[in-house]
Amino acid sequence: MLLYEIMRGLMSDELTLSQMLQEFLNTVIADADYNLPYSDALQKICTGLHLAYVEYRIKVPSNRIIRHGASRHQILYGSERPCGKTFSFQYHTDFNGTVSISMTAVPDFSADDSMAEIYHTFSNHLFLLLSSRNISEIIQHLIEYDIQTDTLNLPYISELYHEIHSDGSGVDYAVLFINLRNFKYINQTGGMACGDEALIRYADKIRESLTDYELLARPGGDNFVLTIKKEHLQDFLSFLEDVPLSALPGAPDKIYHISAHVGVHISQNPKDTFSYRLECASKALTLGRNVLNRMVVYYSDELNARLVWAKNVIASFNRAATQHEFVPYYQPKVDMPTGKIVGLEALVRWNHDGQIIYPDRFINILENNSLITELDLQMLQSVCADLHLWLQAGLTPPPVSINISRKDLYVPDIEKKIINIIQKAGIEPSQIEIEITEISTESDVQRIISFFNEIRSCGIRVSLDDFGTGYSSLSLINSVPADIIKIDRSFIGCCIDSARSLTLVSAIIDLAVRLDTRIIAEGVETEEQARLLMKIGCTDAQGYFYDRPLDFATITQRISAGYYPQVLLPEKELQLQN
Ligand code: C2E
Ligand code: CA
Ligand code: CA
Repeated sequence: MLLYEIMRGLMSDELTLSQMLQEFLNTVIADADYNLPYSDALQKICTGLHLAYVEYRIKVPSNRIIRHGASRHQILYGSERPCGKTFSFQYHTDFNGTVSISMTAVPDFSADDSMAEIYHTFSNHLFLLLSSRNISEIIQHLIEYDIQTDTLNLPYISELYHEIHSDGSGVDYAVLFINLRNFKYINQTGGMACGDEALIRYADKIRESLTDYELLARPGGDNFVLTIKKEHLQDFLSFLEDVPLSALPGAPDKIYHISAHVGVHISQNPKDTFSYRLECASKALTLGRNVLNRMVVYYSDELNARLVWAKNVIASFNRAATQHEFVPYYQPKVDMPTGKIVGLEALVRWNHDGQIIYPDRFINILENNSLITELDLQMLQSVCADLHLWLQAGLTPPPVSINISRKDLYVPDIEKKIINIIQKAGIEPSQIEIEITEISTESDVQRIISFFNEIRSCGIRVSLDDFGTGYSSLSLINSVPADIIKIDRSFIGCCIDSARSLTLVSAIIDLAVRLDTRIIAEGVETEEQARLLMKIGCTDAQGYFYDRPLDFATITQRISAGYYPQVLLPEKELQLQN
C-alpha cells in the first residue's frame, strides 16, 4: 500500500496529514513571540498518528558566535514520555550542531515499519520547521546582543529599559556608563586573546552581581552600560573598584586588578528616555576621566556646563596659542629680612574675549589632553622674551621660574626642548628656574630625578613645588636633587593656629638647611605669617602679603624698584630703635 494511503487511513476526520501539517505550520508562524505551547497545535496530528509524546533536542558546541554553545530540550507534545514504542531521528545543523527528535506511540498502539516511515516524514517536517525557527532565534540574538560578551547591545538595552519601566519605575534605577582603566595594558602584556577573554570574564562577573531587572550592555570596546537599582548602587560601585581577573590566556600567572571610570545618572523624571540618561552618564564619565581625575562622577547640570567649557578650551586652544592669548603674569619672591625681590614666578593667564581666565579653569583640561606641553613651552618662550625686554631696558631682573606639568616629564626629549628654547633666546640658563609639582608615585620619582639632573647640568635651577602635599615628602628631599623647595601654601595658613603644621614646616626647613637646599614659603598673606616663618628659619616668601601675580607693566615697575618693605622680628626692631 502506498504510504499516502496508509496516512489517509490513519486520519480520523476529513483532513489529510499534509493539511494538518500545514495548519500546524501556520500556527507556529503566526506565533511571533515564540511562546505558544506546541501541544495544542500538534493535538490533531498526534492523535491521528497515535502519538502520545514528542520531544526535540538541539545541541550546538561552543563556537565563535555562540560562545557557550547552545542546547535546548523542548517537549513538543504530551507531558511525560509514556512506555510506548519510541522512534528517534537525528539531524545535523549548521555550526556542527545535532538535532534529535523522538516520538513515542500511545502504549497500546503497535507501530510497524510503515508507521515508522510515516513518523520519519513527520519528524522531517518538524525538523525543518523548528530549525528555521531556531535560526531565526539565533539571528534575533545576534541583533540584540553583543557577540563577544553575550551582553545586550545598546538598541536592545534601550528597548528593554522602556519596556520594563513603562510605569515610570526608571527613576528607581541609576544608569551607569563604565570605561575600564588601563585596559590597553592587558592587551599589551597578555596579547589580544587575553584582552578578549578579560572582557568576557569581566562581563560575566558583573552579570553575576546583578539583581532583578538590572541590565548590562556593551556598546563596544572596553565600555559597559548598566541599569542598577538605586539601593544597590553603592555596593555595586565598591565592587567595581577592584575586579580581579586571573589565569587569562597569554598571562596565566598574572592577576589583573581591573578598576573603572564610572559616569552615573540618577533621574528624578520618570519621562527621561534611556538615550538621554545614557548621554548624561557618558558625559559624567568623560568629565571624570578627562578633567576631574575622579573614578566615579554623578551627572549634574553644573557638571555639564563644565564639560561644555572643557570642550571649548580644547577647541580654542590652538587658535589662542597662535594668537598669544596665554600670557605670563609674575609674582615676586622676596627675601623678607631685606625686602629684596629675589625671584619671580611666571603664572599663566588666558586673555580670552577681553576676560582674564585663571589657570585652575584650563590647566587640568590641557593636562588631560596632552596640550599642556605646548602651553608650558610657549610660556617659557614668553618669559625669555620678557627677560630680553627687561635686560634691554637696563633692568636687572631676578631669576624667573616657570611651571612645568608632571605630564611634560613623559614627553620625549622634553629636557632638550626646554634647553633649546633658552639657548635660542640667548638667555643665561641661571636666569630660569623650573618648578615642578611634588610627585605622587614611585615611578614619577625616578623620572623626576633624571629630569632634574639633566636640566641642572645646563645651569638651570629646579624647584619642587607644593612641597608637603605629595608622596613621601621628607625622604624625597634626600633623593631628588632640587635646588629649591617651595612649601605648599596650605601649611602656611595653618601654621599660625596649628602646632602640628608648625612642627612639620620647622622640620622641613631644618632638613632643607642641613641638605643645603634653599626653601621658600608660598601663600604668605599676612605679616604675622611672615614673622613666624622668619622665626623658624625661612627667609624667602611669595604671596599676597607682597603682591598678587602682576601683569608685565606692573611687575616691570616692581623690578625697577627692586625692594619691598623689610619684615623685622621684634628683637631686630628693638635693636634698630636703640
Ligand atoms: P602654583 O604653582 O602653586 O602657583 C601658586 C598659586 O598660588 C598661584 O595661583 C598664585 O596666584 C597663588 N597664590 C600666590 N600667593 C598666594 C597667597 O598668598 N594666597 C593664596 N590663596 N594664593 C596665592 P594661580 O596663578 O591661579 O595658579 C594656580 C596653579 O596653576 C599654579 O599653582 C600652577 O600649579 C598652575 N600653573 C600656573 N601657571 C602655569 C603654567 O604656565 N604651566 C603649568 N603647567 N601650570 C601652571
Ligand atoms: Ca609654582
Ligand atoms: Ca605651588
